[in-house]
Amino acid sequence: MKTVISDMDLCTGCGCCENSCPCDAIKLSTNREGFLYPSIDLGLCVDCGICTIKCPNTIDDNKSNNKNDFIKLYSAYLENDTIRLKSSSGGVFYSIAEYVIEKGGVVFGAEFDSNFNVRHGYTDKIDDIKRFQTSKYVQSYVGDNYKRCKSFLEEGKIVFFTGTTCQIEGLYSFLGKKYSNLVTADLICSGNTSSGLWKLYVKYVEKKYNSSVQSVNFRDKKYGWDRFSLKISFDTGAIYRRIFPNDSWAYFFLNHYAMRKCCYKCRYKGIEHKADFTLGDFWGVRERFFELYGKRYDDKGLSFVLVNTEKASRIFGRLNKLNYCILPINTVKEYNTTIDNSAKEPIDRAEFYEDFSKGDFSLLEKKYVRISTWKKCNFLYDFYWRNRIYFGDLYRKIMKKVRC
Ligand SMILES: Cc1cc2nc3c(=O)[nH]c(=O)nc-3n(C[C@H](O)[C@H](O)[C@H](O)COP(=O)(O)OP(=O)(O)OC[C@H]3O[C@@H](n4cnc5c(N)ncnc54)[C@H](O)[C@@H]3O)c2cc1C
Ligand code: SF4
Ligand code: SF4
Ligand code: SF4
Repeated sequence: MKTVISDMDLCTGCGCCENSCPCDAIKLSTNREGFLYPSIDLGLCVDCGICTIKCPNTIDDNKSNNKNDFIKLYSAYLENDTIRLKSSSGGVFYSIAEYVIEKGGVVFGAEFDSNFNVRHGYTDKIDDIKRFQTSKYVQSYVGDNYKRCKSFLEEGKIVFFTGTTCQIEGLYSFLGKKYSNLVTADLICSGNTSSGLWKLYVKYVEKKYNSSVQSVNFRDKKYGWDRFSLKISFDTGAIYRRIFPNDSWAYFFLNHYAMRKCCYKCRYKGIEHKADFTLGDFWGVRERFFELYGKRYDDKGLSFVLVNTEKASRIFGRLNKLNYCILPINTVKEYNTTIDNSAKEPIDRAEFYEDFSKGDFSLLEKKYVRISTWKKCNFLYDFYWRNRIYFGDLYRKIMKKVRC
């Protein structure tokens, strides 16, 4: 079988090959593990080799040659609490998107379609930015959006393109030249998950609730930003909400079963990113919030923003609805180890996907998920989380007594 690159385990599903093929011979479709991979229609392929040349995996990306002394790190949050609460972190994405649209530009990001598949789309309307707000922890299908982005750029419009680091690399490789009117933001990225596994989960909850899913929020902040929940609303009005680590699908995400092969050895780790901005969460800021902002920690979301280029720096200086502080660059490594470390492949991953192919989420749940029953009660888990330092001390005292 003809493939774009010889080792398809390296493929990120970025879609650069699909967008680059002059004969439309490449389509991304889901493999047996539910991840998007390119397949080539030999009837259309003229063997020009463009797809292979364009694939970011074949570009020698010696990071030491890309050393960027310009990078600056900020913590930031949007002053508007309503929008911040609807964002995953501090709402910096919204702030940049609004700025670009006010300048007559176009914003690209990841959104749900009507069947809760995740795909890329674009808008030039402020009211539509919400489609792309909040992280969808499922791989987004880029479709032909690199081509669309290029035509907007050629028209002279400002384009703000957002996605995972591998998608931004795919975009730059597809474009093949620099555009002064292109602004990009990637994410501190833990990895992309199987869209097939997500669809199986959606089917499972729909059966359980005997209703169709109406909306999904992977980053609901009812219990706070640092105890964010997966919230699913149903047509009947029912709502499922579970503090993230205690949901079964989230268990597969956090324990790395759901990850794509390439994410276990992500080649884009480290502080240096090609995107203009890199956005993430400032986890663990609770104790430092007062020192940074002179007010009580509000648990509504705080972003790390890496401002990687001069262009980004100019824009960041004009985002007047943000509260921000400059930080020493290594603070991001201290508080967000994902920037450097790839997900670890579970030893029984192959077995997991054998079981996945049987098409029954409850079987996977029974066999692999280990979540204590009390943790499934949001109230108890929230109470424990707020008092975990006290409970930790109590546990240590009891253990000490038991040992004596
Ligand atoms: C798969 C994934 C894994 C992540 N892992 C981490 C992590 O380990 N640590 C960390 O600090 N931050 C991580 N993030 C980033 C974080 O969750 C926030 O997206 C980021 O901080 C921006 O928050 P915000 O409040 O500025 O914007 P939000 O309003 O939350 O904006 C969301 C942004 O993310 C983009 N996006 C959403 N879903 C996807 C998707 N499936 N594929 C591509 N782009 C998407 C949107 O286009 C938009 O630009 C991850 C994000 C994703 C999508
Ligand atoms: S261009 Fe992207 S989708 Fe195509 S083979 Fe390379 S990594 Fe995979
Ligand atoms: S070799 Fe050329 S024609 Fe064939 S799939 Fe790749 S880009 Fe398309
Ligand atoms: S971990 Fe790396 S390869 Fe995986 S989705 Fe994120 S940027 Fe792409």
